[in-house]
Amino acid sequence: MIVVKIGGAQGVGLDAVCADVADLIRQGQPVILVHGGSAETNAISEQLGHPPRFVTNVQGFTSRYTDRTTLEIFAMVTNGKINTFLVETLQKAGINAFGVSGLDGRLMVAKRKDAIRIVENGRQRILRDDFTGKIESVDGGLLKKLVELGYTPVVSPLAISPQGEALNVDADRAAAYVAGAGGAGQLVILTNVPGLLRHFPDESSLIPQLPRAGLEQALSFAEGRMKKKVLGASEALDLGVARVVFADGRVAHPLVGALAGHGTVIS
Ligand code: ADP
Repeated sequence: MIVVKIGGAQGVGLDAVCADVADLIRQGQPVILVHGGSAETNAISEQLGHPPRFVTNVQGFTSRYTDRTTLEIFAMVTNGKINTFLVETLQKAGINAFGVSGLDGRLMVAKRKDAIRIVENGRQRILRDDFTGKIESVDGGLLKKLVELGYTPVVSPLAISPQGEALNVDADRAAAYVAGAGGAGQLVILTNVPGLLRHFPDESSLIPQLPRAGLEQALSFAEGRMKKKVLGASEALDLGVARVVFADGRVAHPLVGALAGHGTVIS
């Protein structure tokens, strides 16, 4: 099993990724897709007059502040638009894609972060009314059954709390849990950079190989949302995934390139 996370960052070629996925599946290699949608959620939030707000927690990680209206916009964009049209693209390529969010059949259960300690203007304060979650479990059995039935699951980054609430979850970390629970050998994270850069944004500083032990240090030079990918890589390896590749989603054959080791290979 291979899990592919498709980033929502500008430049990632969804058609090219889906074409590669379709080829792999035709060759008998099962794939599960997980996607994000933060860039598009930002754009649509602006258009709807509810601009996105990001908060930084005390550990220095940034996340979207998800009040109820933001959650609704996030669900519309990720589970509504992006998931639907990824499924459409795969279906056009002859692949029987099956779109699900983590709410469906309780696929991804997350703990709601109901009180997050954030830093704002150098001062700490506590945010409540936030519908963001941290994934605790993914139903790998359900994913494997879908694959056995001939479907290609396409997972959007919404999870369910034990109380049944919908939660926004980080797509990179969701992909890590899906890879772990699905028994995947590899997790490929496609984004709009060639991989992990030691001196972002200098693309010549690409790190081609990173041993697991180097992940902690990588957190120090990964900025912003790249930190979540590093964290996701570490979680995937902890869950038994043998290899994580961060690769460029803007090239002609993004998945073929990633599987050939172009990007940052973490193992
Ligand atoms: P996606 O939507 O694909 O998940 P993100 O925008 O969330 O992508 O994260 C990828 C971004 O992380 C890159 O476009 C880049 O701007 C940023 N980034 C920060 N630090 C680094 C780094 N050290 N190496 C590579 N990219 C980095």
